[in-house]
Amino acid sequence: MTDDPFRTPERLALADAVRGFTQDHVAPHIDEWEAAGELPMELQKRAAALGLLGVGFAEEVGGSGGDTVDMTVIIEQILEGGGTGGVVAGMLTHGIATPHIADEAARRRAAGDTAGADHLIDRFVRPVLAGEAIAALGVTEPDGGSDVANLRTRAVLDGDDVILDGAKTYITSATRADHVVVAARTGGPGAAGVSLIVVPTDTPGFTVTRRLDKMGWRCSDTAELSLTGVRVPAANILGLDQGFASLARHFVTERLTLAVTGYATGQRCLDLATRWTSERETFGKPLASRQVVRHMLAEMHRQVDVARVYCRDVAARHAAGEEVILPALLAKQTGVAAGEFVADRAVQLFGGAGYMTGSEVERHYRDVRILGIGGGATEVMTDLATRLMSL
Ligand SMILES: Cc1cc2nc3c(=O)[nH]c(=O)nc-3n(C[C@H](O)[C@H](O)[C@H](O)COP(=O)(O)OP(=O)(O)OC[C@H]3O[C@@H](n4cnc5c(N)ncnc54)[C@H](O)[C@@H]3O)c2cc1C
Repeated sequence: MTDDPFRTPERLALADAVRGFTQDHVAPHIDEWEAAGELPMELQKRAAALGLLGVGFAEEVGGSGGDTVDMTVIIEQILEGGGTGGVVAGMLTHGIATPHIADEAARRRAAGDTAGADHLIDRFVRPVLAGEAIAALGVTEPDGGSDVANLRTRAVLDGDDVILDGAKTYITSATRADHVVVAARTGGPGAAGVSLIVVPTDTPGFTVTRRLDKMGWRCSDTAELSLTGVRVPAANILGLDQGFASLARHFVTERLTLAVTGYATGQRCLDLATRWTSERETFGKPLASRQVVRHMLAEMHRQVDVARVYCRDVAARHAAGEEVILPALLAKQTGVAAGEFVADRAVQLFGGAGYMTGSEVERHYRDVRILGIGGGATEVMTDLATRLMSL
Protein backbone atom coordinates (compact mmCIF):
# COMPACT_ATOMS: atom_id res chain seq x y z
CA MET A 1 0.00 0.00 0.00
CA THR A 2 1.17 3.54 -0.72
CA ASP A 3 -0.18 6.91 0.35
CA ASP A 4 1.16 8.48 -2.82
CA PRO A 5 -1.80 8.74 -5.24
CA PHE A 6 0.69 8.68 -8.14
CA ARG A 7 2.05 5.28 -7.11
CA THR A 8 -1.09 3.18 -6.75
CA PRO A 9 -1.07 0.00 -8.89
CA GLU A 10 -3.74 1.55 -11.15
CA ARG A 11 -1.74 4.77 -11.75
CA LEU A 12 1.49 2.86 -12.37
CA ALA A 13 -0.36 0.68 -14.89
CA LEU A 14 -1.83 3.79 -16.52
CA ALA A 15 1.64 5.34 -16.74
CA ASP A 16 3.01 2.18 -18.41
CA ALA A 17 0.13 2.06 -20.86
CA VAL A 18 0.51 5.72 -21.86
CA ARG A 19 4.29 5.42 -22.14
CA GLY A 20 3.85 2.42 -24.48
CA PHE A 21 1.15 4.19 -26.49
CA THR A 22 3.41 7.23 -26.90
CA GLN A 23 6.46 5.22 -27.90
CA ASP A 24 4.53 3.06 -30.39
CA HIS A 25 1.91 5.39 -31.83
CA VAL A 26 3.05 8.97 -31.22
CA ALA A 27 6.83 9.49 -31.18
CA PRO A 28 7.52 7.79 -34.55
CA HIS A 29 5.03 10.11 -36.30
CA ILE A 30 5.79 13.50 -34.75
CA ASP A 31 7.84 14.83 -37.69
CA GLU A 32 5.13 13.86 -40.16
CA TRP A 33 2.39 15.50 -38.04
CA GLU A 34 4.44 18.63 -37.44
CA ALA A 35 4.87 18.98 -41.22
CA ALA A 36 1.15 18.36 -41.82
CA GLY A 37 0.20 20.94 -39.19
CA GLU A 38 -2.36 18.66 -37.58
CA LEU A 39 -2.96 15.34 -35.89
CA PRO A 40 -4.76 12.47 -37.68
CA MET A 41 -8.16 11.18 -36.54
CA GLU A 42 -6.51 7.78 -36.26
CA LEU A 43 -4.68 9.09 -33.18
CA GLN A 44 -7.96 10.13 -31.55
CA LYS A 45 -9.37 6.65 -32.16
CA ARG A 46 -6.33 4.93 -30.69
CA ALA A 47 -6.31 7.24 -27.66
CA ALA A 48 -10.03 6.65 -27.16
CA ALA A 49 -9.59 2.87 -27.39
CA LEU A 50 -7.11 3.12 -24.51
CA GLY A 51 -9.62 5.19 -22.53
CA LEU A 52 -7.39 8.28 -22.54
CA LEU A 53 -9.94 10.68 -24.01
CA GLY A 54 -12.53 9.64 -21.44
CA VAL A 55 -10.44 10.42 -18.36
CA GLY A 56 -12.24 12.92 -16.14
CA PHE A 57 -15.66 12.04 -17.60
CA ALA A 58 -18.22 9.71 -16.00
CA GLU A 59 -18.86 6.32 -17.57
CA GLU A 60 -22.56 7.25 -18.05
CA VAL A 61 -21.51 9.84 -20.67
CA GLY A 62 -18.98 7.61 -22.42
CA GLY A 63 -16.04 8.51 -20.19
CA SER A 64 -13.60 6.31 -18.32
CA GLY A 65 -13.76 8.01 -14.91
CA GLY A 66 -10.59 9.21 -13.25
CA ASP A 67 -9.52 12.63 -12.10
CA THR A 68 -6.80 15.28 -12.22
CA VAL A 69 -4.21 12.85 -10.91
CA ASP A 70 -4.91 10.48 -13.81
CA MET A 71 -4.71 13.40 -16.26
CA THR A 72 -1.38 14.41 -14.74
CA VAL A 73 -0.03 10.88 -15.21
CA ILE A 74 -1.18 10.87 -18.86
CA ILE A 75 0.46 14.19 -19.72
CA GLU A 76 3.70 13.32 -17.92
CA GLN A 77 3.97 10.08 -19.87
CA ILE A 78 3.12 11.62 -23.24
CA LEU A 79 5.93 14.14 -22.83
CA GLU A 80 8.46 11.90 -21.12
CA GLY A 81 7.75 9.08 -23.58
CA GLY A 82 8.78 11.25 -26.54
CA GLY A 83 5.56 13.11 -27.38
CA THR A 84 5.17 16.87 -27.55
CA GLY A 85 3.18 19.72 -26.05
CA GLY A 86 1.44 19.98 -29.43
CA VAL A 87 0.18 16.41 -29.11
CA VAL A 88 -1.15 17.12 -25.62
CA ALA A 89 -2.88 20.29 -26.87
CA GLY A 90 -4.28 18.80 -30.08
CA MET A 91 -5.23 15.30 -28.93
CA LEU A 92 -6.77 16.48 -25.67
CA THR A 93 -8.43 19.72 -26.82
CA HIS A 94 -11.79 18.37 -25.71
CA GLY A 95 -10.44 18.66 -22.16
CA ILE A 96 -11.10 22.42 -22.32
CA ALA A 97 -14.35 22.22 -24.32
CA THR A 98 -16.35 19.13 -23.40
CA PRO A 99 -16.56 19.55 -19.59
CA HIS A 100 -18.82 22.58 -20.13
CA ILE A 101 -21.23 20.41 -22.14
CA ALA A 102 -21.11 17.51 -19.66
CA ASP A 103 -21.79 19.92 -16.77
CA GLU A 104 -24.82 21.40 -18.50
CA ALA A 105 -26.14 17.92 -19.31
CA ALA A 106 -25.82 16.97 -15.64
CA ARG A 107 -27.64 20.16 -14.63
CA ARG A 108 -30.48 19.41 -17.06
CA ARG A 109 -30.74 15.83 -15.85
CA ALA A 110 -30.94 16.99 -12.24
CA ALA A 111 -33.69 19.42 -13.27
CA GLY A 112 -35.67 16.59 -14.90
CA ASP A 113 -34.86 17.57 -18.51
CA THR A 114 -33.72 14.09 -19.54
CA ALA A 115 -34.24 14.71 -23.27
CA GLY A 116 -32.15 17.91 -23.15
CA ALA A 117 -29.39 16.14 -21.26
CA ASP A 118 -29.40 13.10 -23.58
CA HIS A 119 -29.26 15.35 -26.63
CA LEU A 120 -26.10 17.08 -25.42
CA ILE A 121 -24.41 13.84 -24.37
CA ASP A 122 -25.32 11.80 -27.46
CA ARG A 123 -24.63 14.53 -29.99
CA PHE A 124 -21.59 16.31 -28.50
CA VAL A 125 -19.96 14.25 -25.73
CA ARG A 126 -19.97 10.54 -26.63
CA PRO A 127 -18.60 10.93 -30.18
CA VAL A 128 -15.71 13.07 -28.89
CA LEU A 129 -14.78 10.68 -26.08
CA ALA A 130 -14.98 7.80 -28.59
CA GLY A 131 -12.41 9.54 -30.80
CA GLU A 132 -14.93 9.99 -33.62
CA ALA A 133 -15.38 13.77 -33.41
CA ILE A 134 -13.32 16.81 -32.42
CA ALA A 135 -14.39 19.51 -29.96
CA ALA A 136 -12.80 22.95 -29.63
CA LEU A 137 -13.25 25.91 -27.29
CA GLY A 138 -13.60 29.37 -28.85
CA VAL A 139 -13.08 32.15 -26.31
CA THR A 140 -10.21 34.34 -27.55
CA GLU A 141 -11.01 37.14 -30.02
CA PRO A 142 -8.82 39.23 -32.31
CA ASP A 143 -9.33 42.21 -29.97
CA GLY A 144 -8.01 40.37 -26.94
CA GLY A 145 -7.69 37.10 -25.08
CA SER A 146 -6.67 37.93 -21.52
CA ASP A 147 -9.72 40.08 -20.81
CA VAL A 148 -12.30 37.33 -21.32
CA ALA A 149 -15.10 39.25 -19.59
CA ASN A 150 -15.02 41.87 -22.35
CA LEU A 151 -15.44 39.61 -25.35
CA ARG A 152 -17.50 41.01 -28.21
CA THR A 153 -19.02 38.09 -30.10
CA ARG A 154 -22.78 38.53 -29.75
CA ALA A 155 -25.53 35.94 -29.48
CA VAL A 156 -29.15 37.06 -29.78
CA LEU A 157 -32.14 34.86 -28.98
CA ASP A 158 -34.63 34.52 -31.85
CA GLY A 159 -37.57 32.22 -31.02
CA ASP A 160 -36.18 28.73 -30.41
CA ASP A 161 -32.82 29.71 -31.88
CA VAL A 162 -29.86 31.87 -31.03
CA ILE A 163 -27.91 33.81 -33.67
CA LEU A 164 -24.18 34.43 -33.30
CA ASP A 165 -22.04 37.14 -34.90
CA GLY A 166 -18.37 37.71 -34.20
CA ALA A 167 -14.84 36.40 -34.63
CA LYS A 168 -12.50 34.12 -32.72
CA THR A 169 -8.79 33.52 -33.06
CA TYR A 170 -5.97 31.17 -31.95
CA ILE A 171 -8.51 28.37 -31.52
CA THR A 172 -6.86 24.97 -31.03
CA SER A 173 -8.12 22.12 -33.23
CA ALA A 174 -10.62 24.44 -34.92
CA THR A 175 -9.76 23.38 -38.48
CA ARG A 176 -10.64 19.78 -37.57
CA ALA A 177 -13.45 20.51 -35.13
CA ASP A 178 -16.97 19.10 -35.53
CA HIS A 179 -18.24 21.62 -33.02
CA VAL A 180 -16.87 24.61 -31.14
CA VAL A 181 -18.02 25.71 -27.71
CA VAL A 182 -18.21 29.44 -28.42
CA ALA A 183 -18.17 32.13 -25.72
CA ALA A 184 -20.57 34.91 -26.72
CA ARG A 185 -22.31 37.86 -25.14
CA THR A 186 -25.98 37.07 -24.51
CA GLY A 187 -26.44 39.68 -21.78
CA GLY A 188 -25.02 43.00 -20.65
CA PRO A 189 -21.39 44.06 -20.36
CA GLY A 190 -18.81 42.19 -18.31
CA ALA A 191 -18.53 38.63 -17.07
CA ALA A 192 -22.20 38.28 -16.14
CA GLY A 193 -23.36 38.62 -19.77
CA VAL A 194 -21.37 35.74 -21.29
CA SER A 195 -22.76 32.36 -22.37
CA LEU A 196 -21.14 29.27 -23.84
CA ILE A 197 -22.94 27.97 -26.93
CA VAL A 198 -22.24 24.77 -28.87
CA VAL A 199 -21.87 25.55 -32.57
CA PRO A 200 -21.59 22.64 -35.03
CA THR A 201 -18.96 23.67 -37.57
CA ASP A 202 -21.19 22.77 -40.54
CA THR A 203 -23.68 25.48 -39.53
CA PRO A 204 -24.11 28.09 -42.33
CA GLY A 205 -22.22 31.29 -41.47
CA PHE A 206 -19.49 29.49 -39.52
CA THR A 207 -16.17 29.77 -41.37
CA VAL A 208 -12.56 28.91 -40.67
CA THR A 209 -11.12 32.10 -42.12
CA ARG A 210 -7.48 31.22 -41.62
CA ARG A 211 -5.33 28.29 -40.54
CA LEU A 212 -2.62 29.91 -38.42
CA ASP A 213 1.06 29.05 -38.74
CA LYS A 214 3.03 29.31 -35.51
CA MET A 215 6.33 29.03 -33.64
CA GLY A 216 5.58 25.79 -31.80
CA TRP A 217 2.85 23.22 -31.19
CA ARG A 218 3.04 22.79 -34.94
CA CYS A 219 1.26 19.43 -35.02
CA SER A 220 -1.72 21.04 -33.28
CA ASP A 221 -3.84 23.01 -35.75
CA THR A 222 -4.87 26.53 -34.77
CA ALA A 223 -7.40 28.74 -36.54
CA GLU A 224 -9.16 32.02 -36.85
CA LEU A 225 -12.95 31.79 -37.08
CA SER A 226 -15.74 33.99 -38.34
CA LEU A 227 -19.37 33.71 -37.23
CA THR A 228 -21.86 35.58 -39.40
CA GLY A 229 -25.54 35.08 -38.66
CA VAL A 230 -24.83 31.60 -37.29
CA ARG A 231 -28.18 30.15 -36.20
CA VAL A 232 -28.24 27.24 -33.74
CA PRO A 233 -30.98 25.94 -31.42
CA ALA A 234 -31.22 27.88 -28.15
CA ALA A 235 -30.93 24.45 -26.51
CA ASN A 236 -27.22 24.63 -27.44
CA ILE A 237 -26.73 27.41 -24.88
CA LEU A 238 -24.92 25.84 -21.92
CA GLY A 239 -26.68 27.95 -19.28
CA LEU A 240 -27.81 31.47 -20.19
CA ASP A 241 -25.29 34.05 -18.94
CA GLN A 242 -23.45 31.29 -17.06
CA GLY A 243 -20.50 31.11 -19.45
CA PHE A 244 -17.90 32.97 -17.45
CA ALA A 245 -18.70 31.00 -14.30
CA SER A 246 -18.35 27.76 -16.25
CA LEU A 247 -15.02 28.89 -17.76
CA ALA A 248 -13.75 29.92 -14.32
CA ARG A 249 -14.77 26.56 -12.85
CA HIS A 250 -12.61 24.71 -15.36
CA PHE A 251 -9.65 27.11 -15.40
CA VAL A 252 -8.07 25.07 -12.60
CA THR A 253 -7.76 21.89 -14.68
CA GLU A 254 -6.59 23.85 -17.74
CA ARG A 255 -3.87 25.56 -15.69
CA LEU A 256 -2.78 22.28 -14.13
CA THR A 257 -2.60 20.69 -17.58
CA LEU A 258 -0.28 23.46 -18.77
CA ALA A 259 1.77 23.22 -15.55
CA VAL A 260 2.32 19.50 -16.07
CA THR A 261 3.12 20.03 -19.75
CA GLY A 262 5.79 22.51 -18.59
CA TYR A 263 7.73 20.39 -16.11
CA ALA A 264 7.23 17.16 -18.09
CA THR A 265 8.74 18.87 -21.14
CA GLY A 266 11.58 19.88 -18.80
CA GLN A 267 12.03 16.26 -17.67
CA ARG A 268 12.24 15.08 -21.27
CA CYS A 269 14.78 17.78 -22.13
CA LEU A 270 16.81 16.83 -19.05
CA ASP A 271 16.79 13.15 -20.07
CA LEU A 272 17.93 14.05 -23.58
CA ALA A 273 20.64 16.41 -22.28
CA THR A 274 21.91 13.86 -19.76
CA ARG A 275 22.37 11.26 -22.49
CA TRP A 276 23.90 13.74 -24.89
CA THR A 277 26.43 15.15 -22.43
CA SER A 278 27.64 11.65 -21.53
CA GLU A 279 28.27 10.86 -25.21
CA ARG A 280 29.44 14.15 -26.72
CA GLU A 281 33.15 14.87 -26.34
CA THR A 282 34.87 18.26 -26.47
CA PHE A 283 38.57 18.80 -25.89
CA GLY A 284 39.02 15.03 -25.58
CA LYS A 285 36.55 14.44 -22.77
CA PRO A 286 32.76 13.91 -22.49
CA LEU A 287 30.84 17.09 -21.75
CA ALA A 288 29.50 15.48 -18.58
CA SER A 289 33.05 15.27 -17.18
CA ARG A 290 33.05 19.10 -16.82
CA GLN A 291 31.89 20.30 -13.45
CA VAL A 292 30.00 23.25 -14.94
CA VAL A 293 27.97 20.86 -17.11
CA ARG A 294 27.22 18.51 -14.21
CA HIS A 295 26.14 21.46 -12.08
CA MET A 296 23.86 22.61 -14.88
CA LEU A 297 22.26 19.15 -15.11
CA ALA A 298 21.77 19.17 -11.33
CA GLU A 299 20.08 22.57 -11.50
CA MET A 300 17.83 21.39 -14.35
CA HIS A 301 16.91 18.35 -12.26
CA ARG A 302 16.22 20.54 -9.21
CA GLN A 303 13.85 22.81 -11.09
CA VAL A 304 11.90 19.95 -12.67
CA ASP A 305 11.68 18.01 -9.41
CA VAL A 306 10.49 20.98 -7.36
CA ALA A 307 7.86 21.76 -10.01
CA ARG A 308 6.72 18.13 -10.22
CA VAL A 309 6.34 17.73 -6.45
CA TYR A 310 4.37 20.98 -6.14
CA CYS A 311 2.17 20.49 -9.20
CA ARG A 312 1.41 16.86 -8.32
CA ASP A 313 0.45 17.95 -4.82
CA VAL A 314 -1.96 20.56 -6.18
CA ALA A 315 -3.41 18.01 -8.64
CA ALA A 316 -3.94 15.52 -5.80
CA ARG A 317 -5.61 18.15 -3.62
CA HIS A 318 -7.88 19.10 -6.53
CA ALA A 319 -8.78 15.45 -7.08
CA ALA A 320 -9.59 15.18 -3.35
CA GLY A 321 -12.10 18.00 -3.71
CA GLU A 322 -10.09 20.85 -2.21
CA GLU A 323 -10.45 24.33 -3.69
CA VAL A 324 -7.08 25.07 -5.30
CA ILE A 325 -7.63 28.24 -7.34
CA LEU A 326 -4.52 30.00 -5.99
CA PRO A 327 -2.26 26.91 -5.82
CA ALA A 328 -3.27 25.93 -9.37
CA LEU A 329 -2.20 29.22 -10.84
CA LEU A 330 1.03 29.16 -8.84
CA ALA A 331 1.52 25.61 -10.13
CA LYS A 332 1.14 26.93 -13.67
CA GLN A 333 3.84 29.54 -13.04
CA THR A 334 6.11 26.92 -11.44
CA GLY A 335 5.69 24.17 -14.05
CA VAL A 336 6.01 26.59 -16.96
CA ALA A 337 9.13 28.29 -15.55
CA ALA A 338 10.80 24.90 -15.04
CA GLY A 339 9.99 23.85 -18.61
CA GLU A 340 11.26 27.12 -20.09
CA PHE A 341 14.50 27.04 -18.10
CA VAL A 342 15.33 23.41 -18.79
CA ALA A 343 14.46 23.53 -22.51
CA ASP A 344 16.67 26.60 -22.90
CA ARG A 345 19.60 24.97 -21.07
CA ALA A 346 19.16 21.74 -23.03
CA VAL A 347 19.53 23.65 -26.32
CA GLN A 348 22.72 25.21 -24.92
CA LEU A 349 24.18 21.82 -23.95
CA PHE A 350 23.36 20.39 -27.38
CA GLY A 351 25.22 23.29 -29.03
CA GLY A 352 24.67 23.59 -32.80
CA ALA A 353 22.82 20.27 -32.82
CA GLY A 354 20.26 21.80 -30.45
CA TYR A 355 19.72 24.73 -32.77
CA MET A 356 18.94 22.55 -35.80
CA THR A 357 15.38 22.32 -36.99
CA GLY A 358 14.14 18.82 -36.29
CA SER A 359 16.24 18.17 -33.20
CA GLU A 360 13.96 17.22 -30.33
CA VAL A 361 15.24 19.84 -27.88
CA GLU A 362 14.78 22.55 -30.51
CA ARG A 363 11.13 21.56 -30.84
CA HIS A 364 10.57 21.56 -27.08
CA TYR A 365 12.29 24.96 -26.84
CA ARG A 366 9.72 26.37 -29.30
CA ASP A 367 6.81 24.41 -27.83
CA VAL A 368 7.22 25.56 -24.21
CA ARG A 369 7.06 29.22 -25.22
CA ILE A 370 3.25 29.18 -25.48
CA LEU A 371 2.75 27.88 -21.95
CA GLY A 372 3.28 31.27 -20.32
CA ILE A 373 0.89 32.93 -22.79
CA GLY A 374 -2.06 30.55 -23.22
CA GLY A 375 -4.52 29.56 -20.50
CA GLY A 376 -3.84 32.82 -18.68
CA ALA A 377 -0.65 34.79 -19.42
CA THR A 378 1.97 34.78 -16.66
CA GLU A 379 1.40 38.45 -15.74
CA VAL A 380 -2.38 37.97 -15.62
CA MET A 381 -1.91 34.90 -13.39
CA THR A 382 0.36 36.83 -11.03
CA ASP A 383 -2.13 39.68 -10.91
CA LEU A 384 -4.90 37.21 -10.03
CA ALA A 385 -2.66 35.66 -7.36
CA THR A 386 -2.24 39.05 -5.67
CA ARG A 387 -6.02 39.45 -5.57
CA LEU A 388 -6.55 35.94 -4.18
CA MET A 389 -3.93 36.78 -1.55
CA SER A 390 -5.95 39.97 -0.78
CA LEU A 391 -2.86 42.11 -1.41
C1 LIG B 1 -1.13 28.14 -29.84
C2 LIG B 1 -2.28 28.79 -29.16
C3 LIG B 1 -3.42 28.04 -28.86
C4 LIG B 1 -4.52 28.66 -28.26
N1 LIG B 1 -5.67 27.94 -28.09
C5 LIG B 1 -6.80 28.58 -27.68
C6 LIG B 1 -8.06 27.92 -27.66
O1 LIG B 1 -8.16 26.71 -27.96
N2 LIG B 1 -9.16 28.62 -27.31
C7 LIG B 1 -9.10 29.94 -26.97
O2 LIG B 1 -10.13 30.52 -26.67
N3 LIG B 1 -7.92 30.61 -26.97
C8 LIG B 1 -6.78 29.96 -27.33
N4 LIG B 1 -5.58 30.62 -27.35
C9 LIG B 1 -5.54 32.02 -26.94
C10 LIG B 1 -4.81 32.26 -25.63
O3 LIG B 1 -5.60 31.82 -24.56
C11 LIG B 1 -4.51 33.76 -25.61
O4 LIG B 1 -3.44 33.97 -26.51
C12 LIG B 1 -4.17 34.26 -24.24
O5 LIG B 1 -5.29 34.23 -23.43
C13 LIG B 1 -3.63 35.69 -24.28
O6 LIG B 1 -4.49 36.52 -25.00
P1 LIG B 1 -3.92 37.44 -26.18
O7 LIG B 1 -3.08 36.60 -27.06
O8 LIG B 1 -5.04 38.14 -26.80
O9 LIG B 1 -2.94 38.45 -25.47
P2 LIG B 1 -3.34 39.84 -24.79
O10 LIG B 1 -4.50 39.68 -23.90
O11 LIG B 1 -3.39 40.87 -25.85
O12 LIG B 1 -2.03 40.10 -23.91
C14 LIG B 1 -0.74 40.21 -24.52
C15 LIG B 1 0.32 40.07 -23.46
O13 LIG B 1 0.21 41.17 -22.58
C16 LIG B 1 0.51 40.81 -21.27
N5 LIG B 1 -0.63 41.17 -20.44
C17 LIG B 1 -1.96 41.01 -20.70
N6 LIG B 1 -2.72 41.54 -19.73
C18 LIG B 1 -1.87 42.05 -18.82
C19 LIG B 1 -2.03 42.72 -17.56
N7 LIG B 1 -3.25 42.94 -17.05
N8 LIG B 1 -0.92 43.11 -16.89
C20 LIG B 1 0.31 42.88 -17.39
N9 LIG B 1 0.53 42.24 -18.56
C21 LIG B 1 -0.54 41.83 -19.25
C22 LIG B 1 0.81 39.30 -21.28
O14 LIG B 1 2.21 39.10 -21.31
C23 LIG B 1 0.18 38.83 -22.57
O15 LIG B 1 0.88 37.71 -23.09
C24 LIG B 1 -4.45 30.01 -27.91
C25 LIG B 1 -3.30 30.75 -28.17
C26 LIG B 1 -2.23 30.17 -28.81
C27 LIG B 1 -1.04 31.01 -29.13
